[in-house]
Amino acid sequence: MGVGGSITVAVATLLLEGAPDVTDGSSWVNKMIRLPGMTVLDVVDGDDELVITVESTAESVFCRGCGERAEAQDRTPRSVRDLACFGRPVRLVIRQRRWRCRRVWCASKTWTEDLEQLCDTAVLTRRAGAEACRQVGQHARPVAVVAREFGVCWWTVMNATIEHGTPLADDPDRVGPVIKLGVDETSFQAARPGQATRYVTGLVDLDRCRMIDLVRGNAAADLRRWCANADPVWLSGISVVATDLAESYRAGLSPHLDHATRVADPFHVVRVANRCVDKVRRRVQNDTKGHRGRKRDPLFRVRKLLLSGAERLTDDGARRFELGLRAGDPRDEVLGAWLAKEGVRDVYLAENRADAELLLDKTIAGCKADDVAEVRSLGDTLARWRTEILAHHSTGASNGPTEGLNLLVKEVKRCGRGFENFEHYRLRVLLRAGRPVWPHRPSPPILRTRNPHAYA
Ligand SMILES: [Zn+2]
Repeated sequence: MGVGGSITVAVATLLLEGAPDVTDGSSWVNKMIRLPGMTVLDVVDGDDELVITVESTAESVFCRGCGERAEAQDRTPRSVRDLACFGRPVRLVIRQRRWRCRRVWCASKTWTEDLEQLCDTAVLTRRAGAEACRQVGQHARPVAVVAREFGVCWWTVMNATIEHGTPLADDPDRVGPVIKLGVDETSFQAARPGQATRYVTGLVDLDRCRMIDLVRGNAAADLRRWCANADPVWLSGISVVATDLAESYRAGLSPHLDHATRVADPFHVVRVANRCVDKVRRRVQNDTKGHRGRKRDPLFRVRKLLLSGAERLTDDGARRFELGLRAGDPRDEVLGAWLAKEGVRDVYLAENRADAELLLDKTIAGCKADDVAEVRSLGDTLARWRTEILAHHSTGASNGPTEGLNLLVKEVKRCGRGFENFEHYRLRVLLRAGRPVWPHRPSPPILRTRNPHAYA
């Protein structure tokens, strides 16, 4: 039996503990490798990997066809990857037994033994597959990087993530009852020649900040289809739904969520107003200068000040803001849009619903009477969503708390460097942001650094 370098250090440790049987060298190595029903035959210290040869210890096996005691035929070696050992990839060479039925008439003839850690086609042991899934799903690490660490190909790791991750993501107990539902779109694939930007719709539990599901597309039909497939009892428990100002979502929530109070998410309402300011600024810029914003143009220089809240302007900022508008906004169009935007923001500063209603109606009336088309259009949008905007004051619902969740989704997106496959994307987002219950992993006691400062 050949025993490799780093293993000898470990055996010394184990010997000091006095536990293993020194006459049988495989007992300590069996202990370390921990594969029940298997025994280690050989450990070879290869250059790039540790090669561990194991075989099963099962001696009496019965035929699946007739129940007769089977006869051992031979063993065939099969290489799979296991968890890394002492920082080195491990190749497990499993000498898998073939059994034979002695009865001539039995249809079973010969078969290869089933091993707990192995499925027929995988090149990863089950525990290595589960670990690969955890690395990709829970820690949002790129599949390619994990694959390189294990010494397998990309698809092996992705398949392991699907195999071990799908039951976690689809676990009906993962979501539980939801009272406040958030619906929000995110881009899935950026536009490219021949294809417009593709969107997905995220459904979020606003109270527990948990991604419930991800739906392909952002059209009314996509959302309606999802609602139709959801458990009606579960849907009936939802009392508030927060969305952005998209008509498609308003239509898609009907009829399955007609019972819930609809709320326009404050962040998105303010964003609509901000976009109006931007639009007017760009047009005025073009009208007065004849080109798009440049570094020295007065309006371009205050573009960020225009979007920040009035109460956040410093004295210097306010001066620059005033100067920029005086120089670049001859007909006060940008100023009008900015005032409308501030009007919208004031609605959320109101302390009660009555005040908010008053402020919103004032803003809507102001917008509708404005000379600038963009501002009038903002007024129309606000009027269409008046009920939903004001519902924020009675329910307190907003997609605000899900900001952290969006960061997790972004992590997945970034590490995937653009997804082609929606199902893969959905699974990985749910594993990262859906808070599945991961299988227990032992947490060893922490060995602390002997840092003198720690004792000071
Ligand atoms: Zn048989």
